[in-house]
Amino acid sequence: MLERWGSHAYGFFDPRPAVKEIQGRRAHVFRCSATICRGSTRNVNRFLNTGDVSSTSNLLKHATKCFGHEAVDRARNNKLSAEQVRANIVKATTSESINKYFKATSKNTVTYSHRQLTASETRCEFVRWCAESYRPFEIVKDTHLQVILKSGRPGFMVPSPSTVARDTKLLFARTRRRLRRLLCDYDGRLSIATDCWTSPNGHALMAITVHVVHENAPMCLVLDIVEIPKVYNLIC
Ligand SMILES: [Zn+2]
Repeated sequence: MLERWGSHAYGFFDPRPAVKEIQGRRAHVFRCSATICRGSTRNVNRFLNTGDVSSTSNLLKHATKCFGHEAVDRARNNKLSAEQVRANIVKATTSESINKYFKATSKNTVTYSHRQLTASETRCEFVRWCAESYRPFEIVKDTHLQVILKSGRPGFMVPSPSTVARDTKLLFARTRRRLRRLLCDYDGRLSIATDCWTSPNGHALMAITVHVVHENAPMCLVLDIVEIPKVYNLIC
């Protein structure tokens, strides 16, 4: 059966689906391979006693949510096999994240400590929260948040918005230094790419990215995003 599943749709899921009995019906359970799954559940069930036992439409629907239209279209247009999709598309998207490079935990796995955070750890967590979840610094002043954080431990120190802003700048500078060192020491060529676009409010922006192979996996980092002061319309 596995041999017949050569379609690109299977490539976005783990190679061996589980066989389970769900409400008295046997089903193949395909597990999504994305690092952060955007589906309502990570598994796609395909029941064996229905007519569309070999239909891949549900798998493709889920893959589009987690890997995007572009990746799914690329797999279909290039007639990639499931194996090729796993090697070329899934591997690249799951190793691209800078979070992985910094060995941070993904948003899906939350780990808690039984020990209370130190003052500096607390400040770091506030920076991460604001930066990674796109929260404004002012959010730390929110009354309800303060009630939740300080209930049962009135001594808990919540930093002020200006402290979070200052810490963010400091951490940004450190991260930039760290990346600079990584790129300077890189044994090989750095591939620089650029792209321009206009934001919905009419600002012309340009992003510069660098692409390197890090620990045998492709890694893409944004070096800078700059606003273009003047746009020339070139008529060729
Ligand atoms: Zn998924």
